[in-house]
Amino acid sequence: MSGAKEKRLGKLKRKRIWPSILAFVLFVLACGAAFALFMYLCVVCIMGTKIVGHYEEAQQVSGVLDALMDGGDTVTQAAEDMHGAILTNKDIYISDRDGNTVFMTGDSEPDFSIALEFNMRQDFSAVADSKSSFTPEKGLDTILALPVEEIFGSVLNPRGQGETRAQWMTDTIIREDYWLQVPLRHDAYILYVKCNLQTQRQDIVYVYLMGFAAIALLLIPVTLLFINTMRSVLMQRRMTQLIYLDPVTEGRNWLYFQNYAHRILTRIWNNKKAFAMVNLHLERYHNYRACYGVRAGEELLAAMSGFLSARVGKGETFARHEGADFGLLLQCVGENEREYQEDCTKRVRSLLAELTGLRPDQKIHFHAGITMIPPYVDKDGKWYHARKNVDIDELYTYANAARLETETLDEQRITFFNHDMLGRQKWERWVEDSMDAALRNGEFQVYLQPKYSPVSGKLVGAEALVRWVSLSTGLITPGHFIPIFERTGFITQLDDYMISQVAKLQAEWTIQGKKMIPISVNVSRAHFALEGLAEHICQLVDAYGPSHELIELEVTESAFFDDKDILIETVKQLKAYGFRVSMDDFGAGYSSLNSLKDIPLDVLKLDGEFFRGDDDGNRRGEIVVREAIQLAKNLDMHVVAEGIEKKEQVDFLAGQGCDMIQGFYFAKPMPIEEFEKKVEEDA
Ligand code: C2E
Ligand code: MG
Ligand code: MG
Repeated sequence: MSGAKEKRLGKLKRKRIWPSILAFVLFVLACGAAFALFMYLCVVCIMGTKIVGHYEEAQQVSGVLDALMDGGDTVTQAAEDMHGAILTNKDIYISDRDGNTVFMTGDSEPDFSIALEFNMRQDFSAVADSKSSFTPEKGLDTILALPVEEIFGSVLNPRGQGETRAQWMTDTIIREDYWLQVPLRHDAYILYVKCNLQTQRQDIVYVYLMGFAAIALLLIPVTLLFINTMRSVLMQRRMTQLIYLDPVTEGRNWLYFQNYAHRILTRIWNNKKAFAMVNLHLERYHNYRACYGVRAGEELLAAMSGFLSARVGKGETFARHEGADFGLLLQCVGENEREYQEDCTKRVRSLLAELTGLRPDQKIHFHAGITMIPPYVDKDGKWYHARKNVDIDELYTYANAARLETETLDEQRITFFNHDMLGRQKWERWVEDSMDAALRNGEFQVYLQPKYSPVSGKLVGAEALVRWVSLSTGLITPGHFIPIFERTGFITQLDDYMISQVAKLQAEWTIQGKKMIPISVNVSRAHFALEGLAEHICQLVDAYGPSHELIELEVTESAFFDDKDILIETVKQLKAYGFRVSMDDFGAGYSSLNSLKDIPLDVLKLDGEFFRGDDDGNRRGEIVVREAIQLAKNLDMHVVAEGIEKKEQVDFLAGQGCDMIQGFYFAKPMPIEEFEKKVEEDA
């Protein structure tokens, strides 16, 4: 992934949605807490109002008591007088400052162990009644919030039979006695007045109503915030979907694959698992699009994506890379590399088979390249290391390199990667990238390999063979680049260059009055596909002006399988221009004796392979060579034997009437200066 892309993705990741969700949750919690507090305060307020009312009544009692004591009564007389005269129906309890009971009425008394001081517009001191339900553990604090416990139960209680709504509302649901301490002006005594704190159902209903009002108010910001949060969640999801969307297949794109595949491979719990990176390629997709249309092509890719999403399991992933290439990260089952490969092959094979069936009435086929990613395990096989520096692009490149190996082998659709493949492909790329510049810079040099007469032992000819003297890589032999040039078509430029160089050399030798040696030049089969080749070669040679019969053109045997009519025509024209034409590597491939009949060639070059092999093979080879030479002679052709390395071979060929011998026995291909020296020595 490029740095810029990674940066952008990082930014997006930071913009996660959880902060807005968290903010929403916190807000809802805060609202809940505020609501609970509000409800609690409502209850406290209602109860507080009642207690204040009780206090005012108690103050009246204390006022009467004080007045009676002012009249000269003792506290006991005053209290008894007050009760005797039924000035109050409230129970009272009077103690002196030391806490000794001075006077009390009623059947219960204050329980001083459960007391409460609180403030509600003014300070209050309350004490639990000895018969109330307050306990020292529970304390008297709950007196203010008594209805809270009832808040659910009481309202839900249905109306009793015959009970009117008004009666139901005024049902007393809480009744608790407590004592309020009221100050006396005669402060040697302390007065406690027993009060009864009651709660009717309607109190709870009020609390409910206030609660509903509060909820209604709170719901507005909560709803707005919820909408906002959901919008940002959806926006974020949509944005993520867009970033990871492949517009062609509408599945996940390569960016997603890179991220997710990396995550899968680096997960600790995947350390022990083996994976396979697969490059799956729909062959001839461009042709498919050209025939059925771009839309049909994209529909096919979308169908492939849909199919793969059903087949790729949990802990695996896939995405389209580009064109008709898909990357898959699959898990492999097994105990060792062989088993992983077998499992993977089975899986990919069945995938390919099913994919081929996607368009039953159209012929589509797929190739797959695979890189295995086995677990990274200790020597003793016990400890599985985490995969750390996983490079998804690199793994995919390997899978791709493996897949490219299959391009020429139609049936073999699955190839596993090895590092030689990459080396080969890197080399091909280097050659393709460098060839033009190399031609411009004169890095291609003409080497000459002498041809000798086996009878006289004299140097009678030469073959021009190209050598790439690369400024960066050094000397490169043709086997490393000619096949690539043939594939790319660059070979025609190289052949032109070689023909020109040889013509130039011959012209120079003529001017310098040197011994003239005929030189053969290789012409690739790719060249023969071009019309007007003979004329073209003629122009190249004539640019320097040497005699045409000094130049021989070698055509490989394989060229004879191409368009024969063009070949015959070209050979005839070349001959008409005075060039000699030879069939190179005769016997190396599928020799077409028929070609010898139709094409008026001058020279037959026997391939070096005739002279390789064991002794028995040699004997049989000798028979073939003898007959081939005889055949050539009968057709009025000269015979050149290539690849001759041994004296016995030279003697044998001399005996058979072979005209020339080219091989390491005499000389290897050499630079021009060296060749010129050799010619001088030979003279
Ligand atoms: P070729 O045209 O058949 O050339 C003969 C090849 O056999 C040369 O390999 C030569 O070095 C090798 N050879 C000659 N004598 C012996 C021997 O005694 N033993 C062994 N083992 N090999 C021997 P080279 O130079 O590597 O060329 C390989 C092929 O590359 C040539 O085969 C030819 O097909 C192609 N090639 C070379 N130069 C050119 C060129 O300028 N144009 C084209 N189109 N093809 C070229
Ligand atoms: Mg040749
Ligand atoms: Mg040859």
